[in-house]
Amino acid sequence: MEQQSIIAAIEDRARRAGLPIAEVCRRAGVHPTTFSRWKLGSGKRAPSGATVKSLAAIEGVLDVAERSDNPTQGTEALRSVRQSRKLADVCYEIRGPTLHKARQLEEEGHKIIKLNIGNLAPFGFDAPDEIVHDIIVNMHNASGYTDSKGMFAPRKAVMHYCQEKSIGGVEIEDIYLGNGASELIVMAMNGLLDSGDEVLIPAPDYPLWTAAVSLSGGRPVHYLCDEQSDWLPDIADIRKKITVNTRAIVIINPNNPTGALYPVELLQQIVDVAREHQLIVFADEIYDKTLYDGATHTSIASLADDVLFITFNGLSKNYRSCGYRAGWMVVSGEKSHASDYIEGLNILASMRLCSNAPGQFGIQTALGGYQSIDDLVAPGGRLCRQRDLAYGLLTAIPGVTCVKPKAALYMFPRLDPKIYPIADEQQFAYDLLADERVLIVQGTGFNWPNPDHFRMVFLPNADELTDAIGRIERFLHHLRRRLGTA
Ligand code: PLP
Repeated sequence: MEQQSIIAAIEDRARRAGLPIAEVCRRAGVHPTTFSRWKLGSGKRAPSGATVKSLAAIEGVLDVAERSDNPTQGTEALRSVRQSRKLADVCYEIRGPTLHKARQLEEEGHKIIKLNIGNLAPFGFDAPDEIVHDIIVNMHNASGYTDSKGMFAPRKAVMHYCQEKSIGGVEIEDIYLGNGASELIVMAMNGLLDSGDEVLIPAPDYPLWTAAVSLSGGRPVHYLCDEQSDWLPDIADIRKKITVNTRAIVIINPNNPTGALYPVELLQQIVDVAREHQLIVFADEIYDKTLYDGATHTSIASLADDVLFITFNGLSKNYRSCGYRAGWMVVSGEKSHASDYIEGLNILASMRLCSNAPGQFGIQTALGGYQSIDDLVAPGGRLCRQRDLAYGLLTAIPGVTCVKPKAALYMFPRLDPKIYPIADEQQFAYDLLADERVLIVQGTGFNWPNPDHFRMVFLPNADELTDAIGRIERFLHHLRRRLGTA
């Protein structure tokens, strides 16, 4: 248990430095009463995200204090190797501590239903044959480095895709291929942010965005998406949170984790805010073809040419090709004032030489011709059926409500706090895993401020999905009885 490790770290430092426990607690930023409570075992909880982070942070702080207490020490004994302090605020619960518990249970022979990650292949959603074929056929041509921004043909295909989506003025040089959108998101933040710079990020978010801003030295500032309004961004809240330090706004549309799809009028309002405050708009559109009920997607970058937009997309989701790590980033709109930033992006792209070449070979064929995702999301298509099934089953559980996703692969249901007064959401996820062998991610893992939501994918086939939600229902039934809210 992480608490035990923190207790051990504090006691160890106190012993080695000959300091009172209370003094070491003070240095570590752990209140002595909290420490005593942990020692007494009254907090028998699985580690919360904050606790997990704080072990690294605590040990880092203690290291510094110890070195300044004793500057000559540390030359003989092995100094422990620690993660950088830059990681102290970085959180990625989708692959977090509950997943470690799941792995452990699997090693013990238990079957876990994994609803924690939008990875399509394990659920039988295969990449289109054409993509696989093109990658295989070109494998012999894929052993060298490519241009650091990517090969010409796939970038040209992305350029044509931008034209289809009415994103104006995009040239080959505005397009960067990456090892998934993920690499490019981190690159875009690294190239932009200095300490104190703020980036507006939705809450809930896809947590890589918050993590990338923190890791780059910036400050993530979360604006609310309103569940009462189908999880659309709250423009008033966005305006309230803009300061002189705000550099950019992130929108995730279609949205992970909520499945929201933003109407043009709302996108236009975001453009207006960006224009007014000279913000860069970072648009994550990785689910732009995973749309239900005949909905259409508008790229925010198509709405103006006097604002700087950086749009992210890739093969992972729309083409069920997460593992090929093929993504792209497009710079569009007003670029004349951004040549320095763009030069920074070019430096970062060059530093990693290029993205994986086999994945690049899948892009051109994916973007042209028949789009098999359309069949999966159409009425009666597998993804659409599974979304409807999951929505129906989940919302039939007492105290569970959910905005029906219009897009993407996720549900973000709410647990009525009167019926499920959950204090520690990570404990909730952990208990669900331990009792029912179902792995979900708690809502706070998506930077949602309250412990009253969780996220699940609806990727398993109908039988497994029914089984999984049946287990969630049974777990919640027992929870209600235990809490006396049944
Ligand atoms: N953006 C969003 C909103 C996502 O949900 C994900 C993956 O789940 C990514 C980006 C990562 O995409 P890629 O596989 O291209 O790195």
